[in-house]
Amino acid sequence: MISQASVLLAAKEIRPYLSELLTAVDAKDMSQRLDLIFSTELDPALQSTEIQRLMSTAETTQEWLKLYLEGKPSEQILPIIRTYQPLPGKAKAIASPRYRCPVANCHQVWYRRDVEETPPNCPIHDVPMVRDSKVTAK
Ligand SMILES: [Zn+2]
Repeated sequence: MISQASVLLAAKEIRPYLSELLTAVDAKDMSQRLDLIFSTELDPALQSTEIQRLMSTAETTQEWLKLYLEGKPSEQILPIIRTYQPLPGKAKAIASPRYRCPVANCHQVWYRRDVEETPPNCPIHDVPMVRDSKVTAK
């Protein structure tokens, strides 16, 4: 059973993290929708339901809420989510591992932008590209 008070608190505590969890546009949008929910004189039970529905529209905020309701302190949640999910916010710049052709002197490279993507074969040598650890070590 989820406590309404915890959900309402989560909606306040997630604010500083929205820009990390969502793209800039979505973060602004969610922030405005939260404002709207709090500005109405809704029954706390309804507010809680609306907040949960809103946060479930994005996987990252849904996960944040889930961890928060499990009792994780808000400042610890972002690092947890970051370990298994590429975040669309500011974190994106550090998460594009580079792949290269294993053939010496071949300079074909490819950047993986999504964990779902499979590295392609080198268009010249038709061998699977390998992760270039020198570039990704950050
Ligand atoms: Zn090659």
